[in-house]
Amino acid sequence: MHEMAIAEGILEIALDYAQKNDAARIERIGLLLGELSGVETDALSLCFSSLVQGTPAEHAALTWERVPLMGRCHDCGRELRIRPQDYLCPDCGGGMEIIGGREMRVDFIEME
Ligand SMILES: [Zn+2]
Repeated sequence: MHEMAIAEGILEIALDYAQKNDAARIERIGLLLGELSGVETDALSLCFSSLVQGTPAEHAALTWERVPLMGRCHDCGRELRIRPQDYLCPDCGGGMEIIGGREMRVDFIEME
């Protein structure tokens, strides 16, 4: 399951970070999830809560921020929010390069 692998990765990062900082407890984990990352947050929360039992992250709140899909035009340099499969610049018809919206990473970790 896609979300289980992601949850494992998040937990690994958080535990590693807590260990390096001598933290006893992880309070909150913030994620950045791009519109194109395709992460099911319900499934992710479920996987995460099943993994954290007995770890310093057992009571950690998993939160996330959605990152919209953003593109930049190759020709005129315009940056704007785009829709999936709609990668042409509305001004000049040039091809858009994706500059945001693929994120799937840990943004911050709060601990005690
Ligand atoms: Zn353009």
